[in-house]
Amino acid sequence: MNSTYTAIKSYLDQHKVTLVAVSKTRPIEQLQALYDAGQRDFGENRVQEMRDKQALMPADIRWHQIGHLQRNKVKYIAPWVHLIHSVDSLELLEEINFQAAKLNRVIPCLLQMHIAEEETKFGLDADELTQLLQSPRFLELRNIHIQGLMGMATQTENEHQIRLEFEGLKQLFNQIKSTYFNQDDQFQILSMGMSSDYRIAVESGATMVRIGSLLFN
Ligand SMILES: *Cc1c(COP(=O)(O)O)cnc(C)c1O
Repeated sequence: MNSTYTAIKSYLDQHKVTLVAVSKTRPIEQLQALYDAGQRDFGENRVQEMRDKQALMPADIRWHQIGHLQRNKVKYIAPWVHLIHSVDSLELLEEINFQAAKLNRVIPCLLQMHIAEEETKFGLDADELTQLLQSPRFLELRNIHIQGLMGMATQTENEHQIRLEFEGLKQLFNQIKSTYFNQDDQFQILSMGMSSDYRIAVESGATMVRIGSLLFN
């Protein structure tokens, strides 16, 4: 495991890309081994599992919520979550803001975009994104901070298609940044790429990748 980790990490470091180690379904011992090798960013997609692991693991881990998040579960992760990648509605954002306000903190979030051809994946399209960013309700939120976008490419062997989807997201990211976040030097995270396609994502402009199976197998 360590040699794979080291190789991936050095490739990503060269490109100044942050590695989120996706540890869902993996036992604590495997997370600890990666922690001991220096990894601090971990991603989980289920709230209950992330809570259980957060309680057991060292306190300086940065926990990333990467899976679909139900509104009624936000309160469980709000005190310590580092970044929520999977925000895809104004209602969810309002709940995150509400819980963050109670804790007197600001919770960093990414908006999840739907870029794959599969129907089943969550996320906003470009029109919904624009609507959200322009809505008066959004502009009132003081305890969330949108730091960028997240997306998942189609599961396909067709690298060309994957590249087009990632490049499209990068273009949208640039456009949204210059239109809505021009003064905001913290809108700088583009979370895209997993085990099978992270190199394509990095070549297309990702600043953060989410890798699971490749690291833990
Ligand atoms: C599981 C998961 C990943 C990591 O997938 P691997 O193929 O194991 O690298 C990345 N992002 C999300 C949203 C996931 O659910």
